[in-house]
Amino acid sequence: MTSALQQLLLPAECLLCHALLAERDAGRIVCPVCRHRWRPVRPPWCERCGQPEPHFGPCRLCAGWPAALALVRSAVWLADGAREAVHALKYAGLPRIAEDLADAMVGLLPAPGSPSQSPPLLVPIPLAPKRLRERGYNQSEALARALSRRCSIPMADVLVRSRETATQTALTPATRLANVAGAFRPGHRPGLNLPATSLVLVDDVFTTGATLAEAARALEQAGARTIYGITFGRAVIPDFT
Ligand SMILES: [Zn+2]
Ligand SMILES: [Zn+2]
Repeated sequence: MTSALQQLLLPAECLLCHALLAERDAGRIVCPVCRHRWRPVRPPWCERCGQPEPHFGPCRLCAGWPAALALVRSAVWLADGAREAVHALKYAGLPRIAEDLADAMVGLLPAPGSPSQSPPLLVPIPLAPKRLRERGYNQSEALARALSRRCSIPMADVLVRSRETATQTALTPATRLANVAGAFRPGHRPGLNLPATSLVLVDDVFTTGATLAEAARALEQAGARTIYGITFGRAVIPDFT
């Protein structure tokens, strides 16, 4: 469906609070008031994984991550309407909401570094083929595409799912790791020099980081040396805060 047609069919009201959208926000799904209610994830945090600092000892969330996964950040806590927004992106057939979510993520992109730094590439976390068929689109790709338009960093499907995995939602942190083990492999990208490219993995939600770590592991094995991860939401896990 074209976005013009979608706009005709969808009521011009905020998905979350149902307030009528101002004319300048007509292309939006979520109104500015609701977007401002999303609570940014802020320091103090673990410099590497962006999780709030543990009370003592080193961070155990990112201790086992592959070395190439240098930095992971999330835009907002998965609460205060942000959860509903992600739900709409994933389950309500509203890929256009990715535009609203991407606005909150722009500040997470790695700053353009020294001239010696490798050019970055946005890499969406791929969806299992079965889920892609059911949903009709990959929500991480919708986010990466919206981000790519905002920051002029190209997007590429560098990763593919090598097998189906059970949905992570109902799993504990330990079983999440086992669930995604070996789930990804690098796709065939002729001409792409992985060691000389900074890869920015894009996903909708960070819970334990198991998915990002596994995706980074596959890319590292294929030669990638610098990998970042950014997500819109970060779930609160009591064990780790
Ligand atoms: Zn609203
Ligand atoms: Zn950490």
